[in-house]
Amino acid sequence: AVFSLIAGKKEQDRLFALATRDGLTGLFVIRHFRTLLNHAVVEAHRKKEPLSLILIDLDFFKKVNDTYGHVAGDVVLKRVAKILQESVKKEGVPPDRNIPARYGGEEMIIMFKNCSLTDAAFNYGEAIRRAVEAEVIEYENVKIHQTISMGVATLHPEETVPDLMVHRADTALYRAKETGRNRVCIEKPETSPET
Ligand code: GH3
Ligand code: MG
Ligand code: MG
Repeated sequence: AVFSLIAGKKEQDRLFALATRDGLTGLFVIRHFRTLLNHAVVEAHRKKEPLSLILIDLDFFKKVNDTYGHVAGDVVLKRVAKILQESVKKEGVPPDRNIPARYGGEEMIIMFKNCSLTDAAFNYGEAIRRAVEAEVIEYENVKIHQTISMGVATLHPEETVPDLMVHRADTALYRAKETGRNRVCIEKPETSPET
């Protein structure tokens, strides 16, 4: 009976991972991430804690595919995802507090619970940016150097859904791209939905 209970649990875990994890990177898929983010918004208000978000896009990634092939591109994506997963783990921080996910093709996203805008940007974002920049990704005897751009945003007190926060992160990411890539940009204080 104990064995079948354990086997049942393992099978449950496997099926849950299959439904919620991206096959290539192992990160959460965006659908599951959105569910977690919606919960996090409610929790942030209830606990009166900050909630922040980093949106990530690989720089000139098309060039990696064009130069080394799509498989090499996949290897790079996997490696960047691994760096994200390792970078959000910190001693004394519960494992479900910082949650990365695959946002789309070569875009990734991380939510940081109980974390301010500046904390997310400078304690996490900058460290992640530097870790990716320093990584040498070897693929079939070529060394690939990848950088990432990041947009950081935080939940505003009057917001009950995460949409505007995601939008602000996206706007900041766009600014990171425009101003030279391989950098972290944070939302502007005066940002409103129209801008
Ligand atoms: P930028 O710095 O402006 O972001 O330039 P970029 O070339 O990274 O941007 P763009 O969005 O134009 O290109 C993204 C590329 O990512 C295009 C697409 O082929 C590639 N891509 C998306 N998903 C995957 C994937 O799963 N594997 C691989 N190998 N490539 C992918
Ligand atoms: Mg992109
Ligand atoms: Mg890109």
